[in-house]
Amino acid sequence: MQVPLLDLKAQYATLREETQRAVNAVLESQYFVGGPEIQELEKQIAAYCDVGHAVGVSSGTDALIASLMSLGIGHGDEVITTAYTFFATVGSIWRVGAKPVFVDIEGDTYNVDTTKIEAAITPKTRAIMPVHLYGQLADMTPIMEIADKHNLLVIEDAAQGIGATQNGKKAGSFGTTGCFSFFPSKNLGGLGDGGMVVTQDEALAERLRQCRNHGMNPKYYHQWVGGNFRLDSIQAAGLLVKMNHLESWHAGRRANAAKYNSLFAGLEQIVTPTIRDYNESIYNQYIIRVPKRDECRAFLQESGVGCEVYYPVAMHQQECFQSLGYKSGDFPQSEKASQETIALPIYPELTDEQIEYVAGKVIEFVLEEK
Ligand SMILES: *Cc1c(COP(=O)(O)O)cnc(C)c1O
Repeated sequence: MQVPLLDLKAQYATLREETQRAVNAVLESQYFVGGPEIQELEKQIAAYCDVGHAVGVSSGTDALIASLMSLGIGHGDEVITTAYTFFATVGSIWRVGAKPVFVDIEGDTYNVDTTKIEAAITPKTRAIMPVHLYGQLADMTPIMEIADKHNLLVIEDAAQGIGATQNGKKAGSFGTTGCFSFFPSKNLGGLGDGGMVVTQDEALAERLRQCRNHGMNPKYYHQWVGGNFRLDSIQAAGLLVKMNHLESWHAGRRANAAKYNSLFAGLEQIVTPTIRDYNESIYNQYIIRVPKRDECRAFLQESGVGCEVYYPVAMHQQECFQSLGYKSGDFPQSEKASQETIALPIYPELTDEQIEYVAGKVIEFVLEEK
């Protein structure tokens, strides 16, 4: 049996006509940049996330960069973030000229260990950038307390967390800004690249709108430098079709996670995801720890099971960040996670038969230690 890590064709099959109609409407209008679909998507995302304002941008990466730029974070500033994340989190801090300062993760949730944040604060610290990895929120209560106490901004990297909640409150609604990605593999995936910044701060939303259009205001007048971070109308049109299905897709992923959890129950070699009782995950990824991870990955691939390692190298070990002066051993939980974890297929359209096949192959591997 072949089970891909993600099967976007299965989702598209249920949305084909609606999506083609929506894209066609944009084609007929020839209004590709700044069309009405963008405002409608911003309105719906703001309502969905329980925030006042949403600003469509060109990617999740650009959502982070536009947040940093609009908040005036750059050269000479430090931003505290996790050592274990997708590269864009740290790349965005670097690209605005600020210095990323890493903190280790919790070994069970893979999110930033909030007990280690205060020790990383210096007089140069301007912001904390927590990541809601794999679809589960970082522990925002202590993060917001620390930020308030030290007068720091909070930029939530919620690229993997749209719709996830903590004590019933939505990802992206805690911080100064919340940043989402519509990369096709995210729970809300576009027809290409796209992203969104949400905020409760109206003046900041205005700066973000200006920032995505070269900082221009009024037309051809620039008091400061932004970029071209605009979201295309075609992306917004495609995403609007998907908005109505998002909650049911989240529910499908949760149900699939529960099925894996019960199939793996009692096998101590397989460490299933820990979701805090105050969190509801959207399971952008379903991550397990297994012994001999690389051999396990090879066995699964040979068996037709799509799987991936998110992520094989912690941020402080990336070649491009060596000048920051970190060394191996500095963030042991991040390093361990990079060596021991693997992602299994979790997309909502998976059948029970496919889930049982995937789980069966993982169990076969750990019992026989291939
Ligand atoms: C996907 C992702 C991003 C970047 O989003 P893009 O839309 O691909 O630019 C940033 N941070 C995290 C944690 C992500 O998973």
